[in-house]
Amino acid sequence: MRIVDPSFEIQDDLDRSSLAVRLEACGRICYKSEDKITEDSAVPFVRKIAVHGHNSVLEMAVATLEVSCSQERLFELYACQPKYLIINPGASGFLLTGSIRAFREMYSQNPGNQLINDMLLVLAGRTPYLFEGVFDSGRAMPPDAEIAVRKVSLAEVESMPPELLFRHRYLGVKFIVNRAVTHELVRHRPCSFLQESQRYCRYSQDKFGNQITFIKPMFYEKGTVEYSLWQQAMEDTERLYLQLLETSTPQAARTVLPNSCKTEIVMYCNLVEWKHVIALRTSQAAEPSMREIMIPFASELKRRYPLL
Ligand SMILES: Cc1cc2nc3c(=O)[nH]c(=O)nc-3n(C[C@H](O)[C@H](O)[C@H](O)COP(=O)(O)OP(=O)(O)OC[C@H]3O[C@@H](n4cnc5c(N)ncnc54)[C@H](O)[C@@H]3O)c2cc1C
Repeated sequence: MRIVDPSFEIQDDLDRSSLAVRLEACGRICYKSEDKITEDSAVPFVRKIAVHGHNSVLEMAVATLEVSCSQERLFELYACQPKYLIINPGASGFLLTGSIRAFREMYSQNPGNQLINDMLLVLAGRTPYLFEGVFDSGRAMPPDAEIAVRKVSLAEVESMPPELLFRHRYLGVKFIVNRAVTHELVRHRPCSFLQESQRYCRYSQDKFGNQITFIKPMFYEKGTVEYSLWQQAMEDTERLYLQLLETSTPQAARTVLPNSCKTEIVMYCNLVEWKHVIALRTSQAAEPSMREIMIPFASELKRRYPLL
């Protein structure tokens, strides 16, 4: 067995990548199949994911649009009760940020709405494969001359005033933590998550070193009786898990796995939600293993966005 410390990584590299590359990199964490990433693998991966209905992968990339339109058009949009979208009305239109999934579902539920149609025309014009099966530019309504839609770059979002920046800037973070911490993280409902799947990962495989990786518990110092007891429990668990795998599937064998199992999880949300998560998860009342990882993350976020 392996024992590692918890860690986090802000996904800056994926912010510089295409939407499809971002979706693939996050999606493959579930299967720990990052070794299958090639220069051309992103689009087929995303297509397959969409067909299989592994929809949360499609939440892992957002697009921001600047839309000029009449007030009536904006009211029509609100009347559709679009979900999981951030909208800031302005003098001559609005600024909107949503995930690929949110845009797909907004169109599916409101195919006759001109404004939504025109937003999808812009998005699907750039990356048609992300909207396959939902939106076909060739069969869509023609754009309305009184609506103007423009895709806003991440660099532009980064230079917006704080009240817009904090709502429209989405930040992805990969945490490597124990299973108890991931159980708590996934309670934050406005966020999107993807995590290493104990159903699909078979830790007896070579790529996992034929062993289970555990997170070092911050409660026990190495060399103490408590640490030895914990280590013994993990060794016993690993032995039983590997034995179960000889005759059963990972999803069956995982039933013996404990909270200390290392788990990779990507959490993606806007800065307003990160602020909320950090307030709850760094307080004295929070679970110590959670604070162990959230306090350094909060320091990094504060360094990047002091006004937050
Ligand atoms: C110290 C501590 C102890 C805890 N103990 C327990 C426990 O013993 N058992 C347990 O089950 N959980 C426990 N929790 C989890 C806690 O109850 C929340 O589920 C978790 O912290 C998510 O936070 P949240 O609900 O404020 O916000 P999030 O889910 O992050 O949501 C952010 C915001 O979205 C809005 N929102 C989202 N969904 C809704 C909704 N359906 N209705 C209204 N507003 C919504 C709210 O404005 C909210 O502030 C604990 C959390 C902490 C920090």
